[in-house]
Amino acid sequence: MKKIIIAIDGHSSCGKSTMAKDLARKIGYTYIDSGAMYRVITLYCIENNLFSGNELNLDVLRKEIGNIRITFRKNDATGHSDAFLNDRNVEAQIRSMAVAEKVSFTAAVDFVREALVGQQQAMGREKGIVMDGRDIGTVVFPGAELKIFVTASPEIRAQRRLDELIAKGEKANFDDVLRNIEKRDYIDSTRKDGPLRKADDALLLDNSTMTVDEQNQWLNQRFREKLKN
Ligand code: C5P
Repeated sequence: MKKIIIAIDGHSSCGKSTMAKDLARKIGYTYIDSGAMYRVITLYCIENNLFSGNELNLDVLRKEIGNIRITFRKNDATGHSDAFLNDRNVEAQIRSMAVAEKVSFTAAVDFVREALVGQQQAMGREKGIVMDGRDIGTVVFPGAELKIFVTASPEIRAQRRLDELIAKGEKANFDDVLRNIEKRDYIDSTRKDGPLRKADDALLLDNSTMTVDEQNQWLNQRFREKLKN
């Protein structure tokens, strides 16, 4: 059967990766978490003291970016892919609030986007992928056969993210998480390169009142419809 590219964009913490992973597993496609790639670069910048407040040392990052190798490897225990930074498993670190606080600043840098968009496009050359992010349907794969734009109310998204962080044993509170989500949405939507916006041909999904099962089914149906056309 002919393989396609599925692009899932949307606001922070709206369950994009949950539905993308579920669909990829069911249809035998590769799932790629493009946000993890921006998070890995951000972790590198934090660990190497390239941040001064929210300002990045762009001269150093420009020189270093070619030495930051991002890979994904299947974790047999979880069944999902973990992100690696130069062969070190950094999956837990990149999900921390410390990285979430800085990632939108890294993601607004033009040469960072250029490098990562190039890598993401290479991953989709053979099609058969589900990729989630902010600019997948607009910049990375404008020709993707199925595009979804996901959103939900900020309060609902903050509660979902807080539950995830607490389940992982991280200390976090609702107000900090809500503030982080709103700040990232703002920076992601107003940046010059690859801003977060719905592609004209993307289907809109507001999953504020949906269960995980309901949203997974919704996406599955959209995929089946696409294959029929
Ligand atoms: O999807 P996730 O929340 O992990 O993404 C983290 C951050 O990475 C986003 O807030 C955004 O700043 C950036 N990002 C991006 N473009 C993408 C994916 C993520 O700018 N395609």
